Amino acid sequence: MAKMITSECINCGACEADCPNNAISEGDPIYLIDWEKCTECVGESDSPHCLEVCPVEGAIIPDAGHVETLEELKAKYARLH
Ligand code: SF4
Repeated sequence: MAKMITSECINCGACEADCPNNAISEGDPIYLIDWEKCTECVGESDSPHCLEVCPVEGAIIPDAGHVETLEELKAKYARLH
């Protein structure tokens, strides 16, 4: 399942630089995660980098509209790199 950014986002930009898949970009009015590029950092690390750097609780949540298996996330990562 990809991650998504909510209206709690304060536009600090910390997550964009830390995404290994370049899935995060500045939007209007909040930052956006491209679910087609987000692997929840599967293939890269044990936990999503964006969650580690985001200063706001609840600004990054699971994207329930894009549920994927671990194998699908691994395959997506392989396609991207
Ligand atoms: Fe928004 Fe959190 Fe990303 Fe900062 S790190 S831009 S608050 S989602």
